[in-house]
Amino acid sequence: MSSAEASDATRVARRDDAVRAALEQGLLTPDRPIVALLDVPGIRASAAALRAAFETVTAPGTPVLHAFAVKATPLVPVLRLLREEGIGAEVASPGELALARAAGIAPGRTVLDSPAKTPADLREALALGIAVNADSPQELDRIDAAVRSAATRSPLGIRVNPQVGGGSIGALSTATATSKFGVALRDEGARAWIVRAYADRPWLTRLHAHSGSQGMPLPLMARGVAETYALAEEINRHVGRRQVDTIDIGGGLPVDFGSDAMAPTYEQYARLLAEVTPGLFDGRYGLVTEFGRSLLAKHGTVLARVEYTKSAGGRAVAVTHAGVQVATRTVYAPGSWPLRIAAYDAKGRPKTGPDVVQDVAGPACFAGDLLAEGRPLPLLEQGDHVAALDTGAYYFAHHYAYNSLARPGVYGYAPAEGDPGATRFAVVRTPQTLTEIVTESGGAHTRSLTALQEIQPLRPTDESSPSGA
Ligand SMILES: *Cc1c(COP(=O)(O)O)cnc(C)c1O
Repeated sequence: MSSAEASDATRVARRDDAVRAALEQGLLTPDRPIVALLDVPGIRASAAALRAAFETVTAPGTPVLHAFAVKATPLVPVLRLLREEGIGAEVASPGELALARAAGIAPGRTVLDSPAKTPADLREALALGIAVNADSPQELDRIDAAVRSAATRSPLGIRVNPQVGGGSIGALSTATATSKFGVALRDEGARAWIVRAYADRPWLTRLHAHSGSQGMPLPLMARGVAETYALAEEINRHVGRRQVDTIDIGGGLPVDFGSDAMAPTYEQYARLLAEVTPGLFDGRYGLVTEFGRSLLAKHGTVLARVEYTKSAGGRAVAVTHAGVQVATRTVYAPGSWPLRIAAYDAKGRPKTGPDVVQDVAGPACFAGDLLAEGRPLPLLEQGDHVAALDTGAYYFAHHYAYNSLARPGVYGYAPAEGDPGATRFAVVRTPQTLTEIVTESGGAHTRSLTALQEIQPLRPTDESSPSGA
C-alpha cells in the first residue's frame, strides 16, 4: 500500500468511526434525522499538503499566500481552522468578507475577487488594506478614483481571462472565450490595453487568473497560469522594472468524486506548474493561490436517516432526509455532480449484503429530489442511514431552502486521544430552528401585506361575476 493509499484508508476509518459516534452521541436522532460532519485532521492534512507542495517548488524566501476560496465552505470555524494552518481567505462578497473577518483572518491575508464589487465594497477593501483584483476596465476606473482620494496599502491587480478554453462543466469554466470574468486577454486590443493600464498606474502590482473549477484538466489550468505569467513578463519588460511582483493563480484543483483517493494532488499540480512555467517559481514573483474545493470536499459527510423504504415500478426507493437542500447541484445536475453514497445500518455500522439497484431520495416535494438514481447498494431498510460523501465544499454549507427544510447542524470530528476508535465532536453550526425559519421568512411582518391596501367593500358587479373576482 502506498502512503497515499494508507492515508486515504485512515481517513475512511475516521469517517466510519465518526458516523457511529454521531449516532451514539445523539447528534443524529429520529427527531433530528440529518447532520453534517467535517473531518478536522483531514482538513489540517490537506492544508499542510498544499503548503508543502508549493514550498517544494518555490525559491527560498518567496512570499506565498494560500487564500482559501471562502465560497467553497463559508463556515467561520472552518476559516479559523485554516487560519491556524497558515491559510488566508479569498472573498467575493461583503458576506464572505465578514466571515473571514469574524474568523480573525488578517486583511493582509485576504483577497477580494468579486465580479460585481460596489463602490462601498471597494472603499472598505482599500481602507482595510485587502488585496483587490479589478475584474473589468470600469472597475479599474473606480479603483483609480479611490486611489486618488485616499492612500491604501491594498495590493492591487487586474484579473485576466486567459481564454484557454473550458473544462467538462460549462457552468464552472471561467476561461472560455465569452466568460463573464476578468479582462478577456485574447480579445482585439485587450493585451495592449492591459500593458498600458499597468504602465499608467505604477501601483498595479498584481496579476490574477482563475481558469475554472471542477472539471478542468490540469494541463489546461497550467496553460492559464502560463499565459498569465507571460503577460506579467511582458508588462515588466514594457515598463522596464519589476512592477508586477505577485501572480495570483486562482484555485480550481479538481476533486475525485468517484473514489476515496485524494487525486490529483497539490504536489502533482505544483510540479506541473513548475515544469511548464519555471520562471514563476524562481523567486522573482510572489504567489497567491485560491483553492477551495480541493481543500475541503473530501472532508465533509452528510449523514441522514432512512425514514421509509418502498418499491415503485420495480425500483427500490429509500426516502431519506438528505436531498436538494444539502446537495443542490447533484439533484439539479446529476450528470455533472454525481455523489458517492455509503450505506450504514441503524447503529451506524457499514452495511453489507448484495448490491440492489435503488434510488436514494431526499425529503423535498418534487420527483427529481434524488441523491442517487439507480445506484447499486446493499438494500436500505427503514432506520438505516445513508452518507453523501465528499460534501465538505459547495454542499451542506450551501443550504437551499426548498420546502423550508432546516439547515442541518454541522460538527467537526477528530479521534479522541488515547481512546482508539472513539470520536470527539465540536459544534461548527447549530441546526436551524423552526423559530429561525419563521423569522427568516418574514415572520416579523405577518400583517404587512394585508395592511398595505385598505380593504375595499365589494361592489354588486363583483358579487355577480362568475369567477367571484
Ligand atoms: C470559485 C473560485 C475559486 C475556488 O475554486 P475551487 O474550484 O473551489 O478551487 C478561486 N478563485 C476564484 C476567483 C473563484 O471564483
